[in-house]
Amino acid sequence: MSSGPIRKSALFVIGTLAACFSAAFVVQTNRDGYKDTPILPGQKWHVHDSDRPYPKEVDPGNKPGAAPSDAIVLFDGKDLSKFCQFENGTEVAPKWKLKNGTIEIVGGTGNLYTKEKFGDCQLHIEWQEAPDIEGFGQGRGNSGVFLMSRYEIQVLDSYRAPTYADGQAGAIYGQWPPMVNPQRKPGQWQTYDIIFEAPRFEGKTVLSPAYVTLFFNGVMVHNHEKLNGLSAHRAVLPYDFSGPEERLYLQDHGPKHPVHYRNIWIRKIPGYDKG
Ligand code: MG
Repeated sequence: MSSGPIRKSALFVIGTLAACFSAAFVVQTNRDGYKDTPILPGQKWHVHDSDRPYPKEVDPGNKPGAAPSDAIVLFDGKDLSKFCQFENGTEVAPKWKLKNGTIEIVGGTGNLYTKEKFGDCQLHIEWQEAPDIEGFGQGRGNSGVFLMSRYEIQVLDSYRAPTYADGQAGAIYGQWPPMVNPQRKPGQWQTYDIIFEAPRFEGKTVLSPAYVTLFFNGVMVHNHEKLNGLSAHRAVLPYDFSGPEERLYLQDHGPKHPVHYRNIWIRKIPGYDKG
């Protein structure tokens, strides 16, 4: 029988391939770096410090927009279990609808709140205006992402549909317009990738304001922009003194604004050197 040598050579090939793959994925345990280099200004670490913790490994997901492994998935098309609404001050199950793997606003039922609270965060959220949208200005599919229940990133149809600049889609409402308008046509999905830095308070003193960075359909429209206080209509309001984390909500702007949402995930910003 000639199967003996063939089997042996096949095993050799498999063994060699296995050795190559395992070598490629070996985790190095010996530390690289230095202890005889200068201390970095404002840090406790030497330049290239061999004792500095390795960043925690995070699986980034299999495509752009996918939730990384350390994200809290708020909505993946299946259920609204991470959300609630309020009725006379009491938390109730959401009345907004699950429809074809999206969340559909049921106007007039109130805002949709996360059960969990967030402060500093990275938020990914996708939204869509109706393809046959009607209305003018602020009346075209108005919703919004309210960070800490206080700071609105506007959701609206602003594709060749004028309104005041600091109220169009991608605006930090009432404060800053987006630098450019990368919005797609109604009926197409839009994405927000928001990096939010919560304000810091000590008593009634604002130690540090809130900051927003926003990528709108992948295009940077705010770059660590400072907020002057709460979002407001036709007013300038100071900060109120919230906790370090508060609920996120999606705005119900009434029955004539049927916006859809999908693929919502959030990461609490971990900070450096957490290993
Ligand atoms: Mg709004």
